[in-house]
Amino acid sequence: MIALDLLVLGGGITGLSVARMAARAGWRVALLERDDLASGASSSSSHMLHGGLRYLEHGHFSLVREALAERAAVASMAPSLARPVRFLAPLVRGARVGPLRLRAGLMLYDVLAGRAAPSPHAMASAAQALALEPGLARGGLRGAGLYSDMVMDDARLAVAVARDAVAHGAAVHTRCELTALRPTDDPVRSGLDVTAHDRDRGHDLRFTTRVVVNATGAWTDATRTALLRMLRPGAPDPPRLLRPTRGTHLVYPALTRTHGIVLTAASDGRVFFVVPFAGRSLVGTTEIEVDSPPEPGQLRPDPAEVGYLAGEIARVLPGAATQRPLAVFAGVRPLLDAGAQPGGASREHRVVEDGPLVTIAGGKYTTFRVMARDVLAVVALRLGRPAPLLPRNEPPLPTPLAEPIDGTALGAQAAGEEFARSLDDALRRRSTRWLDDDRGLGVAADVAGAMARRLGWAAGREREELDRYEAMVRDERTLLERAITPTHGGARA
Ligand SMILES: Cc1cc2nc3c(=O)[nH]c(=O)nc-3n(C[C@H](O)[C@H](O)[C@H](O)COP(=O)(O)OP(=O)(O)OC[C@H]3O[C@@H](n4cnc5c(N)ncnc54)[C@H](O)[C@@H]3O)c2cc1C
Repeated sequence: MIALDLLVLGGGITGLSVARMAARAGWRVALLERDDLASGASSSSSHMLHGGLRYLEHGHFSLVREALAERAAVASMAPSLARPVRFLAPLVRGARVGPLRLRAGLMLYDVLAGRAAPSPHAMASAAQALALEPGLARGGLRGAGLYSDMVMDDARLAVAVARDAVAHGAAVHTRCELTALRPTDDPVRSGLDVTAHDRDRGHDLRFTTRVVVNATGAWTDATRTALLRMLRPGAPDPPRLLRPTRGTHLVYPALTRTHGIVLTAASDGRVFFVVPFAGRSLVGTTEIEVDSPPEPGQLRPDPAEVGYLAGEIARVLPGAATQRPLAVFAGVRPLLDAGAQPGGASREHRVVEDGPLVTIAGGKYTTFRVMARDVLAVVALRLGRPAPLLPRNEPPLPTPLAEPIDGTALGAQAAGEEFARSLDDALRRRSTRWLDDDRGLGVAADVAGAMARRLGWAAGREREELDRYEAMVRDERTLLERAITPTHGGARA
């Protein structure tokens, strides 16, 4: 039986950040992730540490200011995983946002960033915009606004946070799920007895803990309901906190020289981005309400979403129409149910206390430190300890391990030092090999072989891992082929 101050459920950026901050405060903490670290939204984001320019339109100024401060703080903690990128916002005749409104928005964004802004905004004429990005559609182009945001490697940043948590004493268990929870019998020390099952190793883990933190992203409501049924059998289920939405991205060969692009979709006026990442362009995202988020691995983008993104991007960067995307990925946003349309919903977060169960709902990647601070303020009261504060200047996270070119070295490193337990973990979330032209298939056998040796996989597991990864790549390619036909005239939905 392992005695803890808190047990965190969910190994996305939120849960990892809670575990890291608690461990740095010297608290006894363990984290259970039922799949892989960052296997949910934390590896399927738009890869931006940002204030969210578009939230200014909804008047969420304090949220934007806070996120911009976090953008600077997080980027300074992980300089090799986050870099400033100049974004171009084309001004097109007849568009919803004209030059005055765009300039006002960019000025406000600079002001809210304060001294932490990477470089201030600028306005460009159409000729200047085309000189910067010759691939932009010329028809109707009036000019562009330019501003800066940070682009980050979401999955590897989450792994860096996990490594820091472990370095400060946290225990991180992946492929582990809580199976039983009940108040302890100890009359002196109140707490909870927890049993969890490690699926890979096939054994149970037992803990006693003062608090359980539910940081399970889009699955927060389902987790809270399940835990409360164990703690308070017969009590009514709690009302839901979230209104999750699915967001899909396409990955193209680089569509721009260096810039990110922020666009407004012609068909529905939604804002979406082209984000330069690892020599590719991430194009997204969509926003489709999902009533109950699918289990990991079951999340499938819709061909209509793929066609929508391909059609809209080809309108603004016509070169995209002649190319087929390399990859497609989707994630579910854990948005708070605020009654607004999902697109207008803010990315605020909320901490809810059900006795010793503390739930964190909502938020965004950029503000992971703030979310952890707010969770631990509540946990601290229960533990009768001072709440950890958010340091202005945090020491850097452990330097990310360089990504080995050789598949065997990659597999050994991912399994030995970065918590990877499957081939997909290594190729998709410990490296950028999934963005290679061959989607990492060329090194897959070496990676799987090294992982099999390191993790002692049973006979047949290596083959299963390879088959599963190949099937995933094949499914993505089939979806892209069904949804998009590259032509010189544009992409077909
Ligand atoms: C398409 C899209 C684009 C986005 N773009 C950005 C962006 O550019 N910038 C930004 O700041 N934010 C962005 N976000 C938001 C951001 O990605 C999320 O807010 C953030 O990653 C959520 O992290 P999380 O840890 O709360 O959830 P997740 O990352 O989803 O993690 C939850 C984890 O809990 C695990 N889990 C579920 N149930 C259990 C259980 N019972 N026990 C144990 N583990 C469990 C899951 O396997 C998962 O790993 C985007 C989100 C999406 C979907």
